[in-house]
Amino acid sequence: MQDSREVLLSVRDMRITYGSGRKAFEAVRGVSFDVYKSETFGLAGESGSGKTTIGRAIIRMIPLSSGEVVFGGRRISGKITKKLDEEVIRKIQMIFQDPMASLNERAKVDYIVGEGLYNVRRDLNNEERIALVHAALRDVGLLPEFASRFPHEFSGGQRQRIGIARALIMRPELIVADEPISALDVSIRAQVLNLLSALQKEHGLTYIFVAHDLSVMRYITDRIAIIRLGEIVELAPTELVFEHPLHPYTKALLQAIPVPNPRVEKSRRILPNDARKATDDAERAMCEIEPGHFVLATGEEEEMYRRFLRVG
Ligand code: ADP
Ligand code: MG
Repeated sequence: MQDSREVLLSVRDMRITYGSGRKAFEAVRGVSFDVYKSETFGLAGESGSGKTTIGRAIIRMIPLSSGEVVFGGRRISGKITKKLDEEVIRKIQMIFQDPMASLNERAKVDYIVGEGLYNVRRDLNNEERIALVHAALRDVGLLPEFASRFPHEFSGGQRQRIGIARALIMRPELIVADEPISALDVSIRAQVLNLLSALQKEHGLTYIFVAHDLSVMRYITDRIAIIRLGEIVELAPTELVFEHPLHPYTKALLQAIPVPNPRVEKSRRILPNDARKATDDAERAMCEIEPGHFVLATGEEEEMYRRFLRVG
């Protein structure tokens, strides 16, 4: 199948090690994926699997130990020109998990939302900058008057909207949303997800959506990469992940989704330990079992997965 979709971001064999010497820990162990323009690409996996590390490396907050990140056809990891760095700062924005911790408490909303403009839009005078802040606040469903208030005056949901406005004001092409709703009250999660979807359509945004919660992923993503211990074990269009998950770890994650029905809840299986354990994946490679559906497998497992799909 010829793929005509435009690749906006490519992560190629990304490796990231924290610490050095005997304390060295490889949190990301050779991760590769492409993100197409205007799609929502999900990174799913348990806590500690390396999702945040990958997101932070993409926006250049953390250096790669090896591999590269290519954005719009240009390498943006490692040493790059100041001009390209400024472009990346504007075009790739991040929304953080905890809106209580991520906003500067001493600054007014006006400054928090407009801060990025001081660097990328030096041409603006104060009035023009404030007009953009007001527009960004309206875009995320907040009143322009909120600009003169402080973060502590807002609820969790409103604070996350402020975080979104802060990203949006930069006119980004790609937004890395790191568990943007998991710290929020359950009752307002859907509103924030709907807002993100609406903004994506309105502004032609591309999202990398990080979450440990697969039920949220099903609702918002086009494709999902399942990460275990710093490695992608399965990557597929969202409906295929749910319809025929192949890797045992993906299946285990799906079984771990909370079910509202208490009777189902009781019979549900917990994540088996062997799916969590670091296995020797040295002889495994990503294999395309059906169009767009990749899984980490040995030659033998690949055959088994193919048979499974033919029969199923
Ligand atoms: P996730 O976002 O999937 O929960 P993280 O990317 O935060 O995972 O972390 C991946 C692994 O890297 C974890 O084992 C975590 O303990 C470790 N880690 C994260 N940040 C650091 C750090 N600054 N120094 C050392 N280890 C870290
Ligand atoms: Mg994280």
